[in-house]
Amino acid sequence: LKNNLLNFSNTINNWYSKNKRDLPWRETTDPYIIWLSEIILQQTRVEQGMAYFHKFSNKYPTIESLASASEDEVLKDWEGLGYYSRARNMLSAAQFITRELNGKFPNNYTAILKLKGVGTYTAAAISSFAFNEEKAVVDGNVYRVLSRYFGIATPIDSTKGKKEFQLLADELIQLQKPSVHNQAMMEFGAMQCTPKKANCDDCPLKISCVAFQNDLVQSLPIKEKKTKQSKRYFTYIIVSDAQHLIIQKRAEKGIWANMYEFPLIESENLTEQSQLINEQKFAGSLNLNNPKVGHISDTYKHILSHQQIFARFIEINTNKLFKFNDKCLIIKKEELHQFALPKLLVNYLSERDDLLSLLNDN
Ligand code: SF4
Repeated sequence: LKNNLLNFSNTINNWYSKNKRDLPWRETTDPYIIWLSEIILQQTRVEQGMAYFHKFSNKYPTIESLASASEDEVLKDWEGLGYYSRARNMLSAAQFITRELNGKFPNNYTAILKLKGVGTYTAAAISSFAFNEEKAVVDGNVYRVLSRYFGIATPIDSTKGKKEFQLLADELIQLQKPSVHNQAMMEFGAMQCTPKKANCDDCPLKISCVAFQNDLVQSLPIKEKKTKQSKRYFTYIIVSDAQHLIIQKRAEKGIWANMYEFPLIESENLTEQSQLINEQKFAGSLNLNNPKVGHISDTYKHILSHQQIFARFIEINTNKLFKFNDKCLIIKKEELHQFALPKLLVNYLSERDDLLSLLNDN
């Protein structure tokens, strides 16, 4: 077994030195910059995260600069990236470091793990990349590579599986420089041993890879539970007069916390278009002054990690807007671009020629 581990580790590291992508956060050992990149990449592909990494590292080059930003501003900068709790946690971690740790980013795994929004994977990544601490990263990529190469069928989401994979990863990291080994494992999982269409034909490990040799590449790794997804049905009402429109802030808990959206009616089922037009129920229920129902959208499906959102948008014009509940904010149309909106709303606005300009700073 020892030889097999050594062979695996050498081959992966060799592969990495030849195939690694030049990524900006690989050129630094500044834990703050590495942390920024790791949080951005938590649920995001490198291609999508890159622009956000540049935006954040330029606008907030130090922990202090991030800590002094407002939550609205950080959420606005994060707009379009999804999983907004990452941005909120990042801001409160930066404030914590500035306030409690004298602005000095913690320099070891245990202390990094205490930061808001940082789990074992991210703490291992930061402590190994910035401080060469011997902490193995174990995430979806690593599970997949280990499970396939060593032919491990223990479910990766079971307690037993988590222990087994962690032990193996801990043994492997001792064989190389921790920072390089972790990067190599992550890169190999992302580029070579990918979830679908793994690149086995030109894989340097294929001769000794159990999954490849036994035609198990597609069936490994194994997951015990399927993620349950609940369905929710939203109707957004875009109410405007000549110069203004209405938005509201979402609650502190739940999806899109503290972001902004149009007034929303949530229902048990999909609302039929005919129902919206005939009943004019939304316009009526809002007590609007001479409402004119304009465009009613098709249904937009938006997938989050545990929820599927089915959303419709109904555009209503009225003579004069007034607040129909305490949550409402009446804003000028040209101010909308300053508010952080969920991606679903940005997608909708960008597809409507009449509304597209609302997203821009005119
Ligand atoms: S041979 Fe295929 S399954 Fe095995 S490690 Fe290489 S890419 Fe992954």
